[in-house]
Amino acid sequence: MTRFDGGQAVRWFDDFGVLRLVSVAAGNGTVREFPGLPSLAGGLALGMPADLIQGVMSHWASARELSRGPWIYASQTTVLTFEPSDGSLRSVDCPGAACLVRARITEGRLVRHENPTTFAECGWSGIRIVDDVATPIRRGA
Ligand SMILES: [Zn+2]
Repeated sequence: MTRFDGGQAVRWFDDFGVLRLVSVAAGNGTVREFPGLPSLAGGLALGMPADLIQGVMSHWASARELSRGPWIYASQTTVLTFEPSDGSLRSVDCPGAACLVRARITEGRLVRHENPTTFAECGWSGIRIVDDVATPIRRGA
């Protein structure tokens, strides 16, 4: 479910990669059911407001991202740098204890690197960094 500041709430679920709409509650409490479980495009065709469609798409993308394995929010790290060309996250200081290597991020993951304290590969190597700084995400269900 995605809740909006205006009081609207959209119930949906991920049907093996296809978002299916269940119902939309308006800010005044009126609920519209979608017994045919249309996709987002189907909901738009049935008159669902475009701003709600957009909000659900954003929430769905965040939920899918967070289901792809171990991760940490970029906002939970320090010394973030960004690519000047497109504003994407370039590096963070590794959150590993006594590591603090400034590690690049490639394909959304911390690059493999050695922890200078242990002289072994850092346990945080490869963890996904979910960029909630350059691209704020909607939390909650
Ligand atoms: Zn590290």
